[in-house]
Amino acid sequence: MTSVATRINLLTEKPANLPGATPAPSTCSTALGTSPWDFAPTVSAGYGPGASQDDAVPASSPAQPVIPDEYQQASAEELDRRIAAAKATLGDRVVVLGHFYQRDEVVKHADFLGDSFQLARAARSRPEAEAIVFCGVHFMAETADILSGDHQSVILPNLAAGCSMADMADEDSVEEAWEQLMDVLGETDDDGRQTVIPVTYMNSSAALKAFCGRHGGIVCTSSNAATVLEWAFERGRRVLFFPDQHLGRNTAKAMGIPLEQMPMWNPRHDLGGSTAEQLADAKVILWHGFCSVHRRFTVAQIEQARAEHPGVRVIVHPECPMPVVDAADESGSTDHIRKAVEAAEPGSTFAIGTEINLVNRLADEHPEHTIFCLDPVICPCSTMYRIHPGYLAWVLEELVAGRVINRIAVDATTARDAEVALERMLAALPR
Ligand code: SF4
Repeated sequence: MTSVATRINLLTEKPANLPGATPAPSTCSTALGTSPWDFAPTVSAGYGPGASQDDAVPASSPAQPVIPDEYQQASAEELDRRIAAAKATLGDRVVVLGHFYQRDEVVKHADFLGDSFQLARAARSRPEAEAIVFCGVHFMAETADILSGDHQSVILPNLAAGCSMADMADEDSVEEAWEQLMDVLGETDDDGRQTVIPVTYMNSSAALKAFCGRHGGIVCTSSNAATVLEWAFERGRRVLFFPDQHLGRNTAKAMGIPLEQMPMWNPRHDLGGSTAEQLADAKVILWHGFCSVHRRFTVAQIEQARAEHPGVRVIVHPECPMPVVDAADESGSTDHIRKAVEAAEPGSTFAIGTEINLVNRLADEHPEHTIFCLDPVICPCSTMYRIHPGYLAWVLEELVAGRVINRIAVDATTARDAEVALERMLAALPR
């Protein structure tokens, strides 16, 4: 398989070699392809190339110490061998989870590969494992810790692997929003239903999942967002949806909710920037958050793909902006995209709007199709990218030596409340 790093270098040298590779303005730096050690927050104050300029790393983010030189200096082959050897020594004592957006060099060592919903289930399916090594980002490891047993340790190989979208909604801002909404709308309607049900996307901190658990709310993923909104409307008048405005808007629109009933909540403004009347009329109040990776996809890219590849099938992730989802042939979670490709007639052509590691892997696994990324300027999720094989080798070899490092542990009260919202999510099966 060709790694993302290699493909970025190829793109730098010969952009015309890739399908639809007309150069476009980009925040994605070729440095992503060569220097994974530069992304520790001690070195860079931002999330790094590929992230939005608005994505400042919060002060509360955990700091990843510099790892021993031997891991930074080792060749790809040596790291591969050391990871495999450590896993073989540990046997059933360890389980490695890999998100679809991870690079191939990491994914090849995963016992489970999936989206956040599937990995949340996988985390509790191996109770015999003492350690769960989560090759994903911080909020995913928190969720795994909540859903796994007390005897298990969840390890995030690089503590700097956060998610800029998750950090766009912090606990204080959501508590403040909730207070303002309760002042304006009250807690319950005349018929006893909640005026607002909080719904948090999986891509959020454990503290916000706990907030939802305490306030009659629920967690959703991109797989089950529609089921979750139906669940919420059975119990309440309207929804406060955070942090991803695009998933909330795209899902609610597909359910027939008009845009006028989806005001945005900007935490920098009183009442989020809406009037009390607008909030009273709202069905879904959308938090002002987004994914830097999926925000890059545009309608112009879809038009270009269709012009260059007649008959192309365009599938995008629902974290993309609404005009992009509307212009695509279909939208769906990473699992939906994967299944659509698997089920297609040989010879199909796909333009896919999601993270590049998943697109490249699908292209490698399905040579019978033509598959390319909708964005001609290749750009991985810069925080997922921080899980370099060197970090994976480091945490696994420390486990072999009897040391648990980079443990993600959610405090008991937060975990208890968050689990309430997560159990509701796990019961809300995708449609
Ligand atoms: S792809 Fe977007 S939502 Fe997913 S981890 Fe990266 S920044 Fe967060």
